[in-house]
Amino acid sequence: DVRLRFAPSPTGYLHVGGARTALFNWLLARKQGGTFVLRIEDTDVARSTQESVDAILQGMEWLGLDWDEGPFYQSERFGVYREYVEKLLAAGKAYKCYCTAEELEAKREQALREGRKPKYDGTCRHRPDAPDAPYVVRFKAPQEGVTAFDDLIKGRISFNNEELDDLIIQRSDGTPTYNFVVVIDDATMGITTVIRGDDHVNNTPRQILLYEALGYPVPRFAHVPMILGADKTRLSKRHGATSVMAYRDMGFLPEAMVNYLVRLGWSHGDEEIFSREELIEKFSIEAVGKSAGVFNPDKLLWLNHHYIKESTPERLAGLLVPFLAERGIDPATGPALAAVVKTLQERSRTLIEMADGAIFYYRGDFAYDEAAAAKQFTPAAAQLMERLAGRLEGLEPFGHDAIEATFKELCSEQGIKMGQIGPAVRVALCGGTVSPSIYEVIEVLGRDETVRRIRRAVA
Ligand code: GLU
Repeated sequence: DVRLRFAPSPTGYLHVGGARTALFNWLLARKQGGTFVLRIEDTDVARSTQESVDAILQGMEWLGLDWDEGPFYQSERFGVYREYVEKLLAAGKAYKCYCTAEELEAKREQALREGRKPKYDGTCRHRPDAPDAPYVVRFKAPQEGVTAFDDLIKGRISFNNEELDDLIIQRSDGTPTYNFVVVIDDATMGITTVIRGDDHVNNTPRQILLYEALGYPVPRFAHVPMILGADKTRLSKRHGATSVMAYRDMGFLPEAMVNYLVRLGWSHGDEEIFSREELIEKFSIEAVGKSAGVFNPDKLLWLNHHYIKESTPERLAGLLVPFLAERGIDPATGPALAAVVKTLQERSRTLIEMADGAIFYYRGDFAYDEAAAAKQFTPAAAQLMERLAGRLEGLEPFGHDAIEATFKELCSEQGIKMGQIGPAVRVALCGGTVSPSIYEVIEVLGRDETVRRIRRAVA
């Protein structure tokens, strides 16, 4: 049974990098019919917040990354960690260290003066227990040999044990430390593959030594390269939004985000577009590249446009409602929103663009684009529009083709081209020169509103 996990620290929102890590874990679990565990790493009580937990869960739900077990909270597992500290102490694989901060600092300074890399010197490995004195618990790490692992992305990575300190696993206040709880959790939760950001590579040898000391099998590791901005520095707010939910608020669809995130590091030939099912089928951690992915907002926009075009108008209508509300529009006061959406899908790269494009359908009292009105609302155009309004008033049925035929007839009778009336009608109906096809707009607005708007323009 393959078991994977996502283990965010709730100290902020779900950012793009974390979401990609979660996605890779989720995909592998789904591909292999395994289990996806969600674990909230909230041992840093001072920096962890409930808002952040909520934001992370919300981000995962939005992306459709459902978990099979959890969320587990490290803050609820202190008893478990304590038990394992005791086990290691009893087995002589950990020891109490009574060195004071001053002593450690003095040794550190001495090492630096002598040009050595500071490292705990193991004084307390041999010191007898001192009842009542404050202590930390240190792991007795091997002092020679090599700890190596075959990273599924980066290949073989090895560290000299000599480089590694006797890691503190429990602080003097009794709380466990990060590298220790991660191992206890991954071991007791039966995690078989750890996929995480490569900022954790240096933790891995320490963690492997702990697995070995505890007698647990060592999982496989895959360290995912970080995400860079266009200037090749680590992706940060300077490059734009880094929170996944900010992309929802900017009008991106979750499937576009998922497709974008997975391609940020993983590739499959030249293909760009992958449905969720295709991703589950085709994803493999070995096909994740070794080099950092560069965040490309244009490509994300391109994918979003693709998924907007692919989506059903009914679904988009549902997603669009809050964006319209932000613009003070209640779609119940005008044409059916799904019909409106249909006219805008081709031309909207985001739901924000779509909402902006939909405004005119619901606001009949807009001001005309001045330049466009000055150019189009000529006396000749006014006469033609008046005639058009008269015909549309009696048009039955009021459908796209009949509307188009009405324009064509009017043009041929009057000996004019569509260009002599179309743009004026467009300004009358939409306020400006950019809009979906005029016949579609008329059909969606409906007879009464169309005629009202044309008469308003010629009045
Ligand atoms: N909590 C860690 C983080 O958010 C992840 C640790 C891990 O995946 O092992 O960076």
